[in-house]
Amino acid sequence: MKFYPEKYKIPDKPDKPFLDAEEIETFLNEAVSTEKEVVRIIARSLDKNRLTLPEVAVLINTTDPELVELIKQGAKELKKKVYGNRIVLFAPLYVGNLCANNCKYCGFKSSNSEAIRKTLTNKELIDNVTALEQNGQKRLILVYGEHKTYSPEFIAENVKTVYGVKTGNGEIRRVNINAAPLDIEGFRTVKESGIGTYQVFQETYHPEAYTWYHPSGKKADYNYRLTSLDRAQEAGLDDVGIGVLFGLYDWRFEVMGLVRHTNHLEACYNVGPHTISFPRLTDAADFKVDPQYRVNDDDFTKIIAILRLAVPYTGMILTAREPKHIRNEVLQYGCSQIDAGTKLEIGAYSEKNKKVTQNLNKEQFLINDERSLAEVIDELLDTDFLPSFCTACYRKGRTGEHFMEFSVPGFIKRFCTPNAILTLSEYIMDYSGQETASKGWKMIEKNIRELTDPKLEAEVRLRIEKIKAGQRDLYF
Ligand code: SAM
Ligand code: SF4
Repeated sequence: MKFYPEKYKIPDKPDKPFLDAEEIETFLNEAVSTEKEVVRIIARSLDKNRLTLPEVAVLINTTDPELVELIKQGAKELKKKVYGNRIVLFAPLYVGNLCANNCKYCGFKSSNSEAIRKTLTNKELIDNVTALEQNGQKRLILVYGEHKTYSPEFIAENVKTVYGVKTGNGEIRRVNINAAPLDIEGFRTVKESGIGTYQVFQETYHPEAYTWYHPSGKKADYNYRLTSLDRAQEAGLDDVGIGVLFGLYDWRFEVMGLVRHTNHLEACYNVGPHTISFPRLTDAADFKVDPQYRVNDDDFTKIIAILRLAVPYTGMILTAREPKHIRNEVLQYGCSQIDAGTKLEIGAYSEKNKKVTQNLNKEQFLINDERSLAEVIDELLDTDFLPSFCTACYRKGRTGEHFMEFSVPGFIKRFCTPNAILTLSEYIMDYSGQETASKGWKMIEKNIRELTDPKLEAEVRLRIEKIKAGQRDLYF
């Protein structure tokens, strides 16, 4: 995919800060939302263009309910047209909450003496991965506090351990990471262990707000964090995830920050972010955040629709911080990945018979969706989504698969849908109850019929028979 660089006040140079807060404010102050402009901008996105900052500012400044509805409809259409009905499922696995930083919003902050600190031992890591595999998970994101214990070598060892755990037909096929920013050498070490995406959220793109929320520790350095994914790129790790913690500063500024970060990566490395995350603040222990920037549900759904249109090629991740009704609504606006069966307490996945009640001294923050993986799958099927555990592109070396999904005609029908069907078939055979199985096979049949290529259809049917006969991990 070719990107067309735009000129902003601070020129884009690899590994150099790029965001000018005043420039972003100016775009926001100058953007005027008219029906004609909104319609033009939505059409440009549907035509598969990443939007410019001034265009995004127009969508942000749109408050007329009818035009906001147009934006949401545009996002729905883009999602349908480009991505179809697949939703990829994953689980977060918190490995350790030691932390040397003092982020005001996070329960893991070093000054929180009530926090019960824990790092999974190798055996505990294996037990937790085993439990996740027994539920049917295939994709994990490992999460860490920022601490010298969690060195690149430590993380790389964890990744190798996770890939080595096999439980019956269960295995983890993709491990992503959410941990502190590393230096180039560190990113190289972690990449070599075979990770998928490395996520670093800027939390807030506003420099002054950032400084206020991060008073001490390594994370206090705004620019070091801002350029962290440049260092990942320099290390050859081109699969990176960006994010904002909504609720720390004005959401309008943050959406612009995410798009500025996106076009910086495009301009310097010819690759945008693999995923964008948009967690909303939830309650945490020793929580010191003024509620003035809290994002309400209406603005939150609008933000997601705007981001979908602004960066039409990227994966969008929605987490269990959000309650079920919000998750169900915004899935339609283009979220492509959700976590399910999430437990944030360290080690809790392997405590099977214990009903884990959320406890702020043991968890980073509270979640609002405690459904099991089985329940989430059931509900996705009920609402006509196709649950997927696909990891094929990454393992076939088709890096930049989200760009291919987006820009190669027929890619989704040729690869993504068949792989979603095959991974759902595996799930049904190995983990689901009867009712889910019957809904699942119906959904599979419906999607096979929509493939519209008799040869491919026959091949998919053949592979399903092989899965029924006991073969696993068949993918296109
Ligand atoms: N410690 C590393 C860091 O700060 O980058 C790694 C990940 S941290 C455990 C994961 C993310 O959780 C943070 O980047 C932040 O966006 C989010 N988070 C922290 N406190 C939160 C809260 N109270 N509510 C929701 N999300 C929160
Ligand atoms: Fe530590 Fe990350 Fe929490 Fe900040 S957000 S206190 S760095 S775990």
